Amino acid sequence: MDNDNNQKINCTVNSCKFNNCENDECTLHQITVEPIDDCDTCTPDESMCGSYEYGDEDEDE
Ligand code: SF4
Repeated sequence: MDNDNNQKINCTVNSCKFNNCENDECTLHQITVEPIDDCDTCTPDESMCGSYEYGDEDEDE
């Protein structure tokens, strides 16, 4: 229980404005992961990041 202050969220969802695309880390100190309704696949499909917000600041197209 000594890693409460060292938690790190790795995330590769680069379309999220909280994602640091350079090292694939979430820049938030905490996130909320939510269940997907009516999903019963017993795979990661059943969970999603509820803190996601779309952001295109880093897009260079
Ligand atoms: S808020 Fe969620 S989707 Fe966005 S970078 Fe963090 S973990 Fe990834």
